[in-house]
Amino acid sequence: MIPKISPGFEDVLPVEYRELVQDGSYGRNLRIKDLGTFKESIEEHPLCAGCALSLSIRLIVASLPCPEDTIVVGTTGCNSILMPQLAIHNIHSLFGNQNAVASGLKRALKIRYPDKHKDVVVVAGDGGTADIGLSMTMHSWFRRENITTIMLDNEGYSNTGGQESSMTREGVVLYMAPLGKKYPKTRMFEIARESGCAYVAAVSPASPRRLEKMVRRAILVARAIGPTYVQIYCPCATNYKFSPSETLKRTKDDEQIREYMSSDAKELIERLGE
Ligand code: SF4
Repeated sequence: MIPKISPGFEDVLPVEYRELVQDGSYGRNLRIKDLGTFKESIEEHPLCAGCALSLSIRLIVASLPCPEDTIVVGTTGCNSILMPQLAIHNIHSLFGNQNAVASGLKRALKIRYPDKHKDVVVVAGDGGTADIGLSMTMHSWFRRENITTIMLDNEGYSNTGGQESSMTREGVVLYMAPLGKKYPKTRMFEIARESGCAYVAAVSPASPRRLEKMVRRAILVARAIGPTYVQIYCPCATNYKFSPSETLKRTKDDEQIREYMSSDAKELIERLGE
């Protein structure tokens, strides 16, 4: 739904709200190339300076094909303290429950709005997706739910002081993993593909145009075909102890960029020109 200001309220509404209505992204088909020319749905946040999560979320939001009809489902983690400042419908679920909540929501929206696309997009960290919520994440893929799952892979539990997660790389020492990780990073890209995702991608915010393309493809395939997964590599500056000014250099890792699509997804993406 495109928001409008009711007559008579123009002068009393907060200036931020007025700007969003007059110059925001709803209903305007804006893209990453347009950043800086419109009022964004996320402008301020409480995350650390140089946090790649905040940059990734800014890029995700700017990539949504239809922000006015998108609901973001999140869970506990650094990104969840940013979500309340997002001018997009969003839900905070209990830690790890995000794909179960998103599945129910998507099914209800299909019944309530049979003639409309309502995009349900999970945005969660590696702890919520690949550890604590892995069961519910995988089962939403097994059931072929029409949702997109985006993992913000900061390679650890950053919000609670730096424990290792299953996405931490082998050998890495963190504040609360002083002996180093003893086993390899979980292969979530492969798990997503084998669990039934029609489209799977891995990217980092150092490649914004590619990130945009992958997020859009994932959402459009989820609408029409089935579950999709995008993994965004955004290591934590605070727990990995690098300077905020190094963030983009640290996230630039061409080995992280990968894409898989089923034949149905490929045909759809070609037809849509995405
Ligand atoms: S602790 Fe790390 S992931 Fe969390 S907000 Fe700070 S830089 Fe970002």
